Amino acid sequence: DVVPVRRALVSVYDKTGLVELATALAAAGVEIVSTGSTAATIAAAGIAVTGVERVTGFPECLEGRVKTLHPAVHAGILADRRKPDHLAQLDSLGVAPLDLVVVNLYPFAATVASGAPFDACVEQIDIGGPSMVRAAAKNHPGVAILTSPDQYAEAVQAIADGGFSLAQRRRLAAAAYAHTAAYDAAVATWFAQQTEADGAGAGTAADAEGPVAPPAYAGAAYERLAALRYGENPHQGAAVYIAPGARGGVANARQLSGRAMSYNNYTDTDAALRAAYDHDGEVCVAIIKHANPCGVAISPSGDIAQAHRLAHACDPVSAFGGVIATNATVTAAMAHQIKPIFTEVVAAPAFEDEALEILRAKKNLRVLAVEPPEREGWEIKQISGGAVIQERDAYQAGDDDPAAWTLAAGHPADEATLADLRFAWRAIRSVKSNAILLASGGATVGVGMGQVNRVDSCRLAVERANTLGARSTGDAAAPASASGETGAVGGGDAGRILTGPAPERARGAVAASDAFFPFADGLRVLIDAGVRAVVQPGGSIRDEEVIAAAKAAGVTMYLTGQRHFFH
Ligand code: 5GP
Repeated sequence: DVVPVRRALVSVYDKTGLVELATALAAAGVEIVSTGSTAATIAAAGIAVTGVERVTGFPECLEGRVKTLHPAVHAGILADRRKPDHLAQLDSLGVAPLDLVVVNLYPFAATVASGAPFDACVEQIDIGGPSMVRAAAKNHPGVAILTSPDQYAEAVQAIADGGFSLAQRRRLAAAAYAHTAAYDAAVATWFAQQTEADGAGAGTAADAEGPVAPPAYAGAAYERLAALRYGENPHQGAAVYIAPGARGGVANARQLSGRAMSYNNYTDTDAALRAAYDHDGEVCVAIIKHANPCGVAISPSGDIAQAHRLAHACDPVSAFGGVIATNATVTAAMAHQIKPIFTEVVAAPAFEDEALEILRAKKNLRVLAVEPPEREGWEIKQISGGAVIQERDAYQAGDDDPAAWTLAAGHPADEATLADLRFAWRAIRSVKSNAILLASGGATVGVGMGQVNRVDSCRLAVERANTLGARSTGDAAAPASASGETGAVGGGDAGRILTGPAPERARGAVAASDAFFPFADGLRVLIDAGVRAVVQPGGSIRDEEVIAAAKAAGVTMYLTGQRHFFH
């Protein structure tokens, strides 16, 4: 099933490895047919090359829009070698078969990413390239298709060994179709977005009453980035993919140090970034374990090290082996604090040089530079037999602003309390439902997550607030371990400061609930623990009962009118 390579068509935008490939092809006696600047590059290296216009008898024209779109090329690619009739037709038409096609496409996504104007982006939609790629992949029983310089080394070896095997050609064909699918998905996504931006499309959440259903392209193909060692568990195979046209977010992270990212690292870092970037406009640090926050904090003074200390102090037991993300530059002071704590990943938009040096010294710590995740777009969740797709629960929801809330019980909150309520209401969005979150001083102090009833979430939040925390003594405070297993801050790195007994942090804290209280029972758990102000969506048929319980206890309660389930 090995097909020798006698004639190749090479047309590449990315010239990486081109001369080496052409040299090897020429050495193997392969005739090279090529287009414009690809042919020029090959010829400049002193390698014999046939211009495609010699094959087509037609000049490249329309500024390159038509180069290889010609039957003399496509018949050469598509003729089925197994059918004598096809070969006889080629013969009578004077077309020589092509055994190898090497094409990589115009850089459409990069052009969009550069902020180029609409027409310039459209010009970078490759037409002839994908046609050849798809034709060659279809005719894989006789033709090999290369779409990436990564494949050249394997190809050169195969040609030297007498040709590509059928298994190789099939694998290359599959990769080729994945490549053109992702390319078209990127074009389709961008195009639909442009149309919506013009106001000529299906509309967006911003201009419509109520939610807008995702368009067909929202489920478009993802491009495979890399295989992962395994999935959530070691017996599950896994890989990571990039969304068409996406630039930010963890899938596009630049890894600056540490071991390869695992499946769980990716998902937890994603959750951590989501949590940190829910506090746009503030310096925020989020620490995630098993997709839930074990601490989120902002620093009113913009001191990221302080935000990290506060986030860590929320639950130092769980922060062991956690993932840390922030929306601000990691300073050396923060890096010193992280150093003694076993941490899987630190993700941030940027790092001070000294911070990077400190973090790089920890061989097992993965350090990621990540551009902000996209705040709008579609979220896909697989279900058996298909998928459900929804709009992302984006930051900048109308209910972010306390001015839009309704005071349902108690006195209007003072400025500091309102700031904490606002923080809690933003932070609750990164907690898996049912979610109850206690906060104080711009930091979470107790998180109850993932329970199947709200009373249990309330109990959990209170219990965690009152048992897990390390006493914070303000700016000088550094986190310490409650159990000793977290690698308490020590060794003089950040100063060993906290070892005192856990305080009753629920008392005097504020609370947020991701959805309404269906009964007053959950709220009573919070009231009994000393919570003094609550923010929740409202909308239960028993709102009256719930509000009456808050009033009776002298607890302030705001209703936001919007819920934030997150599963
Ligand atoms: P070159 O740099 O050799 O002038 O052009 C190579 C690029 O042209 C490749 O990215 C290839 O996909 C693309 N290409 C090849 N044939 C055609 C064609 O007929 N029309 C268009 N628009 N692009 C083509």
